[in-house]
Amino acid sequence: MSAMTGRRGAGPAGRSSETNALDALLRDTRSAVSPLRRTLEEIFEQASEVNEGRVADYIPELARADPAWFAVSVVTTEGECFDVGDSHRLFTLQSISKPFVYGMALQDHGREGVLERVGVEPTGEAFNSIVLDPASHRPFNPMVNAGAIATTDLLRGKDYPERMARLLGGLGRFAGRDLYVDNAVFLSERMTGHRNRAINHLMKAFGIVGDLFEESLELYFQQCSVLVNSHDLAVMAATLANEGTNPLTREPALEATYVKNVLAIMLSCGMYDYAGEWCWRVGLPAKSGVAGGLLAVVPGVLGIGVYSPLIDAKGNCPRGVKACKEFSTRFGLHCFAAASERRDMRREINGNTTRGAS
Ligand code: GLU
Repeated sequence: MSAMTGRRGAGPAGRSSETNALDALLRDTRSAVSPLRRTLEEIFEQASEVNEGRVADYIPELARADPAWFAVSVVTTEGECFDVGDSHRLFTLQSISKPFVYGMALQDHGREGVLERVGVEPTGEAFNSIVLDPASHRPFNPMVNAGAIATTDLLRGKDYPERMARLLGGLGRFAGRDLYVDNAVFLSERMTGHRNRAINHLMKAFGIVGDLFEESLELYFQQCSVLVNSHDLAVMAATLANEGTNPLTREPALEATYVKNVLAIMLSCGMYDYAGEWCWRVGLPAKSGVAGGLLAVVPGVLGIGVYSPLIDAKGNCPRGVKACKEFSTRFGLHCFAAASERRDMRREINGNTTRGAS
């Protein structure tokens, strides 16, 4: 379970035996010298011991996850990839889709256009609460369900298939590969999504969502049901760390000017009702989802992706929280860390190896 790979620019899917052999060689020749690789393995082992939380069971598909699954991935803005544990294991994005669709809405409507419909204030309410700002009737922010559904409603396209293609294509550009929806999860989300439907109708009554609001809710259920692995999450996070350009494909996924707005919302609202303490302790823009995924962004440096289906009462995976806390502390990555706490991440990533050796 603690097998670890490190490589540049290659996803974990469809790997040849040569790639595996190369990985084994790199593991042998570099693990002793790359501090980041070594630290990541240590953090993985340490976080593996956390056994708090339980697997989400509001739909049967999520309840089937094995609590032992655990993966941590890191992808740098230069395209180096480090994967530990079950990094091939697929799970659904759920709420982790929210910041990325928010980015797409910002591109479609600009900051002020989106702000008219969705606020940017943290809320102490549960992520699925049926609450709107009493004065403006807007949802408080795009990370709670109300705000995320209103955000998805802003996604342009002439019809449902075109909007769906934009949604999947947009998420896929962040991940650097084609992404697919888990249809069983989608159907379950849709069948059980009564609160989301109630929120959507309330927002329709206040004119926050438009005439296509029912179709938009379908799209929201689709985005929650997109399959990824921890490596994909790390690539998506690294794309945000890299000013919106995917560090592996070199393709733009989000206009650089909107990245700061997405990261600001992730920092203030990305970790459900743990967002305040997360910011205080870890200090990195992040987003988690109820399937057990978590991603965190170190702007200009790297993205972290974690998967552990055990989630706590707030909706975050304790193993992921532990791993990110350790990672941030050891390398001084808190966004407000003193200069004396910060480590030279380039050195940590490279160790003593020759750059480009992979
Ligand atoms: N599909 C879930 C919902 O809308 C997303 C939950 C989450 O990851 O926070 O309720």
